[in-house]
Amino acid sequence: MKSQYRVVVIGGGVVGASVLYHLAKFGWSDVVMLERRRLASGSSWHAAGGIHALNADPNMASLQAYTIDLLSEIEKESGQNIGLHMTGGLTLAGTPERWEWLQANYRIFQSIGIDDCELLTPEEAQRRCPIMSTDGVLGAMWADREGYIDTTGTVQAYATAAKKRGAEYYEETKVESLTQTADGWQVVTDKGTITCEHVVNAAGLWAKQVGRMAGVELPVSPLKHHYLITDTVPEVAEAEFEMPMTVDLEGFTYMRQDQKGVLVGIYEVDHEHWAMDGAPWNYGEELFQEQLDRIENELTLGFERYPSIQNVGIKTWVNGAFTFSPDGNPLVGPVPGKRGYWSACAVMAGFLQGGGVGKTLAEWMIHGEPEADAWPMDVARYGDFAQNKRYIRETTGQFYSRRFVMTYPNEQLPAGRPLKMAPAHDAMTEAGCKWGVSWDLEVPLYFAPKGFEETPTLKRSNAHDIVAEECKAIREGVGLLDISGFSRFEVSGPNAEAWLDKVMASKLPGPGRAKLAPMLGETGRLKGDLTVLNWGDGTWWIMGSYYLRAWHMRWFDDHMMEGVTVRDLGEEYCGFAVVGPKSQAVIEKLAEQDISDLKFMGCGDFDIGLVRARVARMSVTGEKGYEINCRYGDHIKLRRMLLDAGADEGIRECGFNAMLSTRLEKSFGIWSAEFTQAYTPGMTGMDRWIDWDKDFVGKDAALAERDGNGPAQLQVTLEVDAVDADASGYEPIWSNGERVGFVTSGGYGHYTGKSLAMALINRDKAEPGTELTVHVVGVERPARVVTPSPYDPQGKAMRG
Ligand SMILES: Cc1cc2nc3c(=O)[nH]c(=O)nc-3n(C[C@H](O)[C@H](O)[C@H](O)COP(=O)(O)OP(=O)(O)OC[C@H]3O[C@@H](n4cnc5c(N)ncnc54)[C@H](O)[C@@H]3O)c2cc1C
Repeated sequence: MKSQYRVVVIGGGVVGASVLYHLAKFGWSDVVMLERRRLASGSSWHAAGGIHALNADPNMASLQAYTIDLLSEIEKESGQNIGLHMTGGLTLAGTPERWEWLQANYRIFQSIGIDDCELLTPEEAQRRCPIMSTDGVLGAMWADREGYIDTTGTVQAYATAAKKRGAEYYEETKVESLTQTADGWQVVTDKGTITCEHVVNAAGLWAKQVGRMAGVELPVSPLKHHYLITDTVPEVAEAEFEMPMTVDLEGFTYMRQDQKGVLVGIYEVDHEHWAMDGAPWNYGEELFQEQLDRIENELTLGFERYPSIQNVGIKTWVNGAFTFSPDGNPLVGPVPGKRGYWSACAVMAGFLQGGGVGKTLAEWMIHGEPEADAWPMDVARYGDFAQNKRYIRETTGQFYSRRFVMTYPNEQLPAGRPLKMAPAHDAMTEAGCKWGVSWDLEVPLYFAPKGFEETPTLKRSNAHDIVAEECKAIREGVGLLDISGFSRFEVSGPNAEAWLDKVMASKLPGPGRAKLAPMLGETGRLKGDLTVLNWGDGTWWIMGSYYLRAWHMRWFDDHMMEGVTVRDLGEEYCGFAVVGPKSQAVIEKLAEQDISDLKFMGCGDFDIGLVRARVARMSVTGEKGYEINCRYGDHIKLRRMLLDAGADEGIRECGFNAMLSTRLEKSFGIWSAEFTQAYTPGMTGMDRWIDWDKDFVGKDAALAERDGNGPAQLQVTLEVDAVDADASGYEPIWSNGERVGFVTSGGYGHYTGKSLAMALINRDKAEPGTELTVHVVGVERPARVVTPSPYDPQGKAMRG
């Protein structure tokens, strides 16, 4: 072992080994992996080794597909047998809703390029898995790329392949402490001290402690998990083919063949956390005693699904632990505030996600950003609030117990909530507010009559008409919208303007003005769809999506300049927007200054009644609107004053559902849908805000796009002949049977009375009037490209 490396990877499980392999593969061979015991001696050795391409999150599904394709490559490269059995796999649907969901997902997988799936009747499914009972099964999805591998062999294969490419790894070498130095890290091990530029926490069950070595509190916890392996099952032994990997969603089990018997794993509804502060250092390759009382129900369902296992013995029980983040996705990437400290942990399915995690992390470290949009697994998708132990316990537990439970897009889950509430929360609840959550904050969805409960559904819900009324108020009268759920950063200091001019690709607004500002990465892809406000007193604000607060702050820190201070105002400021043709009349009653001076995209300090507020004239609804930003302590008073002043105008409190419907009618894109870090300004139309005459981060790449052949796909608006459901995202779009694009977001335009979608679509299909089809909840519907902004295309309402 040398005393200096470029990268030290801590942990020789499947994830660490994959990180090591990918770093070496992409050209960094001065890298070492340290393992305190033997390779795979954490969670990895006792995993069930199941691999499936399918995941409810399309981004995770493509990550899994990459990993599965990689497995045979590393087997070949390393010469190490990984025991790959590509049996194909079944996912069973046992309720009409689940069957609908599976059919919808089948189409979404097509959108992301997973084309090796097919939908089966229960009888067809049974032919492929003859030991299965079809009782209660309404249908199934088949995927070719599913099966299982030998877990320890796979970790060995990654490590051996990495070694062949020049990387090193050492077993029986425990990292004991970490110290940040001027240009990297000092890693103290029980075999000596190493200095390096980067450290990677791939410590699996011990990730929490290895985080704390660097002062990092990661939102991760281990949970226990059972599987059993049966003795020989005669039907399995006699079959001419291997049983496929079979996931019974309503039964909470997965099953695969294991020699001449089967392995049945259980997602335990009555879950149990273990070692929330991280596994003990003396924890070896032990297993826990099985806890049959906790899994009795799931076990019964499993034995009913595969009746032939009722007659054979159980050869092995495994009850082991593995780690989860609050949303079940990995925590990957540079940890905010700790230069050179990387996370590659909370990988709950290391054998099907580990390849993708290794690739993402290695690209990020070497090239500055990963190839694909890494947001769903970015460690910066959580803020400090997620360090809280109860938050971690509730959210990881909820994810685990619901691993096979369907979550509807309009369903609100309770774990870790309510956490942060804007001050007027209780009064708004009293007024009928139904709440959603963004990051840590409760955000209003809509206001319903007392006793109303929304039914979870993939289709239009029973809240449809309520949201329609809120949209009408916004378009014809005046609506009041709590905008605490926007992010606000204050930029100040002598170089504030120079810095903003560098990181934002747009022109900067003059004093008292606001401007839409795309922010780009060095590769010319989007990093933000922000609004910059110049208050005219030397301070500037950047406003954007609330849940990106830590993610954007990390970016600002990474691109910092002398003489600039960026402060996240998320704990200091909140506010309300007053929107609609009568909004000015409401504000005029309260403003001490002449509000009519404030033109579209103007901003300034105003006294709104007793509240000193920072007001901007803009609205994402496409209506005339005022965003009134106030200090947290003023929120209750501001709401009361606005409701009183608006009473004569019929002011109505509205929620984010109405805001999203109205923005769709204006073809205004939003982050995580129309705009992501996988897309470019040219694809998304963001290029119209770029100031090509100045220097800015990402300019060379943006110019190359502008002056090249142009993007292959463009953002368009579609009108869909939908019936009882609207598109939501990732649905495939077809032209004469050929897939030509996918939906980025969709919904019902309540005021225009149209089902609308925004989509990325092949250039030759992007002309308004082009007739297409789109799958909405699994059903193919006619659709056509329409001119952007079906409501008020000239923008008269918002300027008026
Ligand atoms: C019962 C069960 C069944 C499962 N089935 C599947 C499945 O079918 N498919 C699937 O994909 N996943 C499955 N999993 C999950 C899978 O096991 C994990 O996702 C995976 O093992 C995580 O790998 P890792 O490398 O992150 O962590 P680990 O395997 O825990 O590796 C971390 C390593 O870091 C080392 N380490 C920690 N601290 C230090 C230190 N300070 N210095 C040096 N070394 C250190 C540890 O010794 C350990 O070897 C299952 C898990 C369980 C418990």
